[in-house]
Order: sequence, then structure tokens, then C-alpha cells
Amino acid sequence: MPESTQQTPATPQRLDALVVGGGISGIYQLYRLKELGLDVRLLEAGSGVGGVWYWNRYPGARFDSESYTYGYFFSEELLDEWQWSEEYAGQPETERYLNHVVDRFGMRDLVLLEQRVTSAVYDEEAHEWTVTTAAGDVFRTRFLVTALGILSAPQFPRVPGLEDFTGEWHHTGLWPDTEVDFTGKRVAVLGTGSSGVQIIPFIAERCASLAVFQRTPNWCTPINNSPITPERARDIRSRIREIYEATQLSPSGSMHRPMTESSLDMDPEERRAHFDRLYNAPGLTMALANFRDVALDKSANAALTDFLSEKIRSRVADPQIAERLIPRDHGFGQKRPPLENGYYEVYNRDNVTLVSTAEETIERFTPTGIQTDRQHYDVDLIVFATGFAAVVGSYDRIDIRGVGGARLADHWAAGPRTYLGMQSAGFPNLFMVGGPQSTAGNIPRATEPQVDVVTACIAHMRENGLTEVTVTEAAEDEWIEHVNSGIVGTLQETAESWAFGSNVPGRQRVYLLYAGGLPQYRRKVAEAVESGYRGFAFSAA
Ligand code: NAP
Repeated sequence: MPESTQQTPATPQRLDALVVGGGISGIYQLYRLKELGLDVRLLEAGSGVGGVWYWNRYPGARFDSESYTYGYFFSEELLDEWQWSEEYAGQPETERYLNHVVDRFGMRDLVLLEQRVTSAVYDEEAHEWTVTTAAGDVFRTRFLVTALGILSAPQFPRVPGLEDFTGEWHHTGLWPDTEVDFTGKRVAVLGTGSSGVQIIPFIAERCASLAVFQRTPNWCTPINNSPITPERARDIRSRIREIYEATQLSPSGSMHRPMTESSLDMDPEERRAHFDRLYNAPGLTMALANFRDVALDKSANAALTDFLSEKIRSRVADPQIAERLIPRDHGFGQKRPPLENGYYEVYNRDNVTLVSTAEETIERFTPTGIQTDRQHYDVDLIVFATGFAAVVGSYDRIDIRGVGGARLADHWAAGPRTYLGMQSAGFPNLFMVGGPQSTAGNIPRATEPQVDVVTACIAHMRENGLTEVTVTEAAEDEWIEHVNSGIVGTLQETAESWAFGSNVPGRQRVYLLYAGGLPQYRRKVAEAVESGYRGFAFSAA
């Protein structure tokens, strides 16, 4: 729900452009608009920059993309001076990197921290936005760019009684910057998605006891992380442009591309040996560089999940627990698969219990723990690894009003409506970077072309004395049809996941991202720009 918008300080600060969100995409947008010579600021709700790498500071948080494909590529000097320590760097290193970029490129004074935006209202006469923050500050800006992140509105279980719980609790997406001590404590973790799978092994090694509340198991594969030696770093640096080109050709914006071969054409032994190689390969190789038909054909997918089920059985000592950890409701890759490091072995420890909420319903939180319909779990500390109101959740938290006072929330009532994932009809001069109906995958590679187009569009407008850019509902309809054509018929379409908003009770099931892949997305955007900003309409005040 939008927060209060009642405070109105005397003098709004006037700007050319305002970026909302200090994550990897917002920082890049700030850099580009500053470079263009605009009077620009960035508003960030947190006390530091980093976005997901600021908020998700839970132990175990790390990349699932290769570190050197995740950062920025706009500066040779930056590429020279920054060396990642691991193939998949941990959260503290990524947060340090983003802070380094902010300082290195003179952006620190342009970033205003602890400024949560509560409302944005368009003035159709002046072609300007009035943006208000929870602190009561007001900004007037011609251009508003939201870089809110697709996974930034934390989601809690709709279970009563948390206010009665007298112990400590934390959400992985709101982790404190002081150390959380698990030593000797009785801990419960709710959720076994990517975040849960990363934090659970860390807690298990330290706590007195751990109860993992699992609603749906996931297909987790080993991260197979390793340090980057100085020799490897030199090799990466020498091939960095080649690596970047590879990310541009990959649907996910990563180093990986699906194979062209069909797994079903292969002899079962040969197929198994191939799956084994992928299982032992680093990162998301299994998900992103597998046989093409694994994502499209049920039997090809079943051959892989049979293989993965055997892996789980071989790693978990108790056969009943192993069976509970094997997903039955979805195939591999229908949801983003968590990467793990010793996750399955956690269930071989004496201090760990797996509670399936499919078999045992959580009824409420109590002063001393968690009550299910079978028993009470006494705990000192609860960790919510229960995910996010994805993609549109961060927009729901801001009262955004466009032409005629129309609310963005109403315009999106039946699901998000955008053109190119970047603008919505009736909300001129508001650009979205990393918003709905655009590619996800390796996020900085996905949002980079959007930032570049926003920057080019603003430059075009300033050169031509234009003060307003908007898109039509017809352009939105065309984009929505294109977005839907990319997901219909895939195996992904049939799974319940945050990409469809399925994890938010009561939310209409609509695909929230763009499944057509980054190369196609970039082509679509380039076509629109090269044909004179097709779908956009410009005017001057
Ligand atoms: P998530 O994938 O949505 O997982 C949330 C977990 O909480 C699920 O297991 C969910 O069960 C469970 N849950 C939700 N409500 C519950 C309830 N009331 N009772 C019991 N369990 C409940 O969220 P996430 O793990 O934070 O990850 C979200 C996304 O962030 C990932 O898919 C990934 O894209 C990204 N991420 C990436 C990394 C990385 O490796 N770089 C790390 C963390 C996150 P259901 O499955 O039944 O809904």
C-alpha cells in the first residue's frame, strides 16, 4: 500500500532528472545522466548504495552470475583496477564494488540516502514530476527514472502472531548491518528458495538447533565456486571484450548459451555423462547451457530431474528426508534454480530438522516460537527467507499518478502494461529501468540497454527542445502481445513462481518479465529507436 504523502515542505528542489533506486542499474543511470550534463540526483531508501547488495546482507549471499560478467563495462580504467576475488563473489565484495564506482566517478554527492519515495505526481502543464519522500522532502524534475529492482519488496507469510514472538527475527532481504549471532540458538528458517538455500548451511554450522520450514522444494545444483587467482584475473582482463560479447549473445546476458542438440537424441549413458559434467561445472551452467529441449520438452526435462533426484538421494542419508527434498510440482528450470554449497548435506546433521509445511501447517507465531497443527517449535530466532512481491511489488509501494491523476496501480490492475518494459501510457517522462516486461537474467546486462536508451532519448529531447515523451496504449498492447508470445508454450509457463506473481496471495497470475532473451530484447529496442522512436510520442510545453 502507498505510504502517507501528507508532508509538504516549503521549497521543492528543482532538477532535470531524478533516479529512484541506488542498485546496480540506478547507479549506472545516474552515471550516464551526469555524463550528459544534467542536474540529476539519485534517491535511495537505504543507508547505503547497493540495492539488493545492500539489503540482502545475510551470511552466504553471493552472485549466481560470474562476477566479471556482472559489473560495469563502461570504463577501461575500472576494468583495470577492480579484481574480483572469486568466480561468484559474496555480498560484501559486491557492495564494496558499487561503493567504489560511486566514489570513483564522482557520484557520492548526487546520491541522497534514507530517502524512500512515497509519491510521484505528474504535472501535465509543466511536463514535470513532483516526487515526495517519507522524510518529507520534495523534488520537481522533468525526467523520473525508476530503478527499483525486481526483488526489493520483501514478502512475509500471512501467518498471525509475529508481534507476539519475543525472540529475534530477520528477513533475508532486510538483513541488519550488525552481526546476527546464531551461536547456541534455536533457529527456524522459513523458505527454501535461493536465499534460504544460501543461508541455511551457514546457520546449521553455528546454531544449537535448526528447523527448516519448507513449503516447496527446489532443484538446487552446486555452485562449484572457486577463487580467482592473479593468473586467472590477467586472463579474464585480456579477454574481457570477448566475454562481454558473449554476454550480448546469450539470452540470459551471461556467459552461457543453451546447446543446440536435443538430449532425447542421445544415448542414455552419454546423456547422463553430460548431465554429470554440467553438475560439476560452475554456476548456472546446468540451467543456462543445457540441451535446448530441457526447457521445452517434458520428457527431456524428466530425464534431467531423474538425474537430479538421484543426486539428492545420494547426498541425503535419510531416504525419507531425501524424498521430501525432491520437487514434485515442477521440472528443472521452470523456476530459477538455487545454487548451493553443501545444502543437501545439512540434512545429515543431528541439529537440523526438515519440516514440510505441505504435511504440517504453520498456524501461528507464539511468544516462544512457531505453532503448527502438529506441534510447537520452541525457537529463539526466526529467519524469513520467504522472498519478495516481485517486479511490481516495488511499484505498489509508491503512489504514482500520471495524466489526469490516474494511478499507475489502477493502470496495472490486471497486470503491468508497458511499452518495451520502459514506459506506461499516461505516465509521460517516467522511465522504468529493470521494471516489468523486460529481461531479467544477469541484471546489469539486462538493464544496460535500457539505461542507454533512456539516456539517448533524454539527449534527443534536449537537443530538439522537447519536454514530454509518452507512449500509446496501442504500443503497450503490441508489447504485451510480444511478451506473451515469448512465454506461451514453454515449460516455464506452467510453474508457479514469483515471475508470475504466484507467491503473492490474491495477485492475478500474469507473466511479469520478458522471456524472449536479451538479444531479441535489444533488437526490439534498437528497432524502435532507429525508426525514429516508434511507439513514443514527443511534445514541447
Ligand atoms: P523465493 O525464491 O521466492 O523463495 C521464497 C521461499 O519462501 C520459497 O521456498 C517459498 O515457498 C517460501 N515461502 C514463502 N511463503 C511461505 C510461507 N508462508 N510458508 C513457508 N514457506 C514460504 O525468494 P528468494 O529465495 O529470496 O529468491 C528470490 C529470487 O532472488 C531468486 O529466484 C533469484 O532470482 C534471486 N536470488 C538470487 C541469489 C543468487 O544466487 N544470486 C540469491 C538469492 C536470491 P514456495 O516455493 O512454495 O513459494
